[in-house]
Amino acid sequence: MLHVPGFKPYYDVIIVGARCAGAATALLLAKGGMRVLAIDRHGYGSDTLSTHALMRPAVMQLSRWGLLEPLIRGGAPVITSTTFHYGKEEVAIPIRSELSIPGLIAPRRTVLDRVLVDAARDAGATILHDVAVQDLNVDVDGRVRGVVLKDADGRARTLAAGHVIGADGLGSMVARKVQAATLISGRASVAHIFGYAAAPELSGYHWYFQPGVSGGMIPTNNGLACIVASVPTSRFDTEFRCNLSAGRLSALMALAPTLARHAAAHDVGRLKAFRGTQGMLRQAHGRGWLLVGDAGFFRDPLTSHGISDALRDAEGAALAILSGSASGLARFQNERDSLALPILEATDAISAFDWSLAELPERHKRFSDAMKAEIAVLTSRSARDQVIPVAPTTARPPAVAAI
Ligand SMILES: Cc1cc2nc3c(=O)[nH]c(=O)nc-3n(C[C@H](O)[C@H](O)[C@H](O)COP(=O)(O)OP(=O)(O)OC[C@H]3O[C@@H](n4cnc5c(N)ncnc54)[C@H](O)[C@@H]3O)c2cc1C
Repeated sequence: MLHVPGFKPYYDVIIVGARCAGAATALLLAKGGMRVLAIDRHGYGSDTLSTHALMRPAVMQLSRWGLLEPLIRGGAPVITSTTFHYGKEEVAIPIRSELSIPGLIAPRRTVLDRVLVDAARDAGATILHDVAVQDLNVDVDGRVRGVVLKDADGRARTLAAGHVIGADGLGSMVARKVQAATLISGRASVAHIFGYAAAPELSGYHWYFQPGVSGGMIPTNNGLACIVASVPTSRFDTEFRCNLSAGRLSALMALAPTLARHAAAHDVGRLKAFRGTQGMLRQAHGRGWLLVGDAGFFRDPLTSHGISDALRDAEGAALAILSGSASGLARFQNERDSLALPILEATDAISAFDWSLAELPERHKRFSDAMKAEIAVLTSRSARDQVIPVAPTTARPPAVAAI
């Protein structure tokens, strides 16, 4: 039998996927008083592909939700500068600190996703791990009415919901089942090969660029740094794929020989790789469904903005549902598109690797301008925060019900 803690026969919202997009959406909807169930096929606190670097929009939102402090207390080092290395030229930029935001952070996903899940549970959401959603329940008029799970006996179980949210990542089952339209496709695709080493004696984020290759050093939990090399997918397929370790080392040697030697000497664990895929922006909502996170918008990880996008759209979707209006949903789509498009375009301009080192800073400035517009919207949302009241913390549902 599949056991669902605190199971209810009907949920206001069921969310497929419970990582940064899904758990954040569950948190905000539960704070708004909704009955929420989020379901993830992976385990509580499990890892996923990520190089962890949070940009300011993500940190702002985590701070507003009261989660930045626990993440810092949990061991994510505070990042107070970011240094761009254009060939031999270094441009160091201090991170502006505010009362509630001492700097940026790059928590491991085993930590960040867990903190979001715990906060969602504390707000009253039910989160179910190690269970895959098999299908959507769609009525004769084509409106999504719930989800279909399989219990331990292999029998299909249907759970009903007012809205189903796809927070199920790049290969979203929800997007596929509802046939969400692709509004825009990106043009660049980059492969990323990364691993962890004892953090070197370098302060803050470091981003390295040479024609055709880039890399990064990102301090994270447990005294480790994530060290990543990135190349166009076409180059990954021909030169890197058959030997990740040699490929990453040669890329890092071209970018930063001292960092390359450090990684070679201090790497812990196995390297991970993401082959890359082009970006895309999908229709954000339809009859009974919404998409958040990578399910709705994917841009290359090279600009480290996926988690910021996920948290922003989690909040946008939650505000739309809580508004209970068609105009709220339309606003979610419009606002997301107006922010996501410049982010996608600026990310593609960097990920295309068609720049010279002299041209690249201007492309980074375009990306920074897109983030400034996003920060302005997030700031104006915080003025509307009363829409999502911070409900008194409820105890996690202790009951275990069977379905
Ligand atoms: C190599 C790499 C490096 C990255 N580095 C950064 C970075 O430095 N900074 C940054 O901000 N972003 C980074 N990103 C992007 C970031 O990881 C994503 O944008 C982010 O994870 C999206 O979150 P999400 O919750 O939408 O999706 P995901 O994190 O993909 O989570 C989706 C969840 O849905 C679950 N799921 C899927 N289908 C089902 C189903 N049928 N039933 C139940 N559960 C299901 C999956 O198990 C998964 O747990 C990186 C991405 C990659 C690939």
